[in-house]
Amino acid sequence: GCGRVVSGQAGPRVVSSNRTDSESRHRCGVVVILGAPNVGKSTLLNAVVGQKVSIVTPKVQTTRARVRGIAIEGDVQIVFTDTPGIFSPRRRFDRAMVKAAWSRTGDADLILVMVDARKIVTAGAIDEDTRRVLAGLAQSKPPAFLVINKVDAVTPHKLLWLVKALNDLSTFDSTFMISALKGDGLADLMAEICGRMPEGPWLFPEDQVSDQPTQFFATEITREKLFLRLRQELPYALTVETELWTENKDGSVRIDQTIYVERESQKPIIVGKGGRQIKEIGQAARQELERFLDRRVHLFLHVKTRENWAEQREHFRSLDLDYDA
Ligand code: GDP
Ligand code: MG
Repeated sequence: GCGRVVSGQAGPRVVSSNRTDSESRHRCGVVVILGAPNVGKSTLLNAVVGQKVSIVTPKVQTTRARVRGIAIEGDVQIVFTDTPGIFSPRRRFDRAMVKAAWSRTGDADLILVMVDARKIVTAGAIDEDTRRVLAGLAQSKPPAFLVINKVDAVTPHKLLWLVKALNDLSTFDSTFMISALKGDGLADLMAEICGRMPEGPWLFPEDQVSDQPTQFFATEITREKLFLRLRQELPYALTVETELWTENKDGSVRIDQTIYVERESQKPIIVGKGGRQIKEIGQAARQELERFLDRRVHLFLHVKTRENWAEQREHFRSLDLDYDA
């Protein structure tokens, strides 16, 4: 197993400037997880880190920001970067997400190209999104592993065809077959990843599992619950912000969040009849937040309209995305 399950979170800091001999033998590297939407990138990240650092839903484009998760295996620290999926971008916001995903590969030590075995085997052909990822990879410098995910959901003999077809389209240093969900093949993959990490000091303290501030993760949890409950297109029309974070004397925390929708007509869909839906979403989010923060949480959700939030510069900046992509 990999990763230490500790929930302390802070900004990145350099571990130590006056290194000891044992530290100088440390290894540390950056691994970028690339792939089409919904192939299981966030699921893999959470699995290797040993706790949830990136939200997961059956809907595409759940991951919007760069999310890093940090795993430790012996004397190797691996900084995994989850990315929004690579897909054909239409909106400005989509363009920025795709650009961000590719730009992260530049300074990586290793790229994991993830594909969804179930999707490809079911279709009997390699889909456009996957082809786009493989085509983009041709220009990338760091070595790349092909990671075929969701093997739990396909019959094994179909995988032979899949491995060959994908390797015909691009060159990989190695091919792995895994189930990020069930854990199959993860130990092998981790061992090979560790072997590729260069010598160098660790980038993060050993008890840190993510570079995301807790307040950001808190909005992500609420967004995940919204994604899981809302139908069709609506999830893409909303964003969540943490407005207030109040520490109470009794050790509990009060969190006020606003869910921004693009149109007034979308509000009642989120709130639901008699406020039932928003109440359920709030309850689910609060329960997970309490587990994550290990303390009592009072969560207050507000719904507001902010037209074209997805087109506003401020929103791009908050997610570390390039507005002019
Ligand atoms: P991402 O968009 O690439 O980050 O994909 P997610 O990690 O959000 O996963 C998308 C969906 O695929 C979720 O419903 C996951 O539960 C599911 N999933 C991920 N990995 C596996 C796997 O190994 N097997 C199966 N059967 N489902 C998986
Ligand atoms: Mg994701």
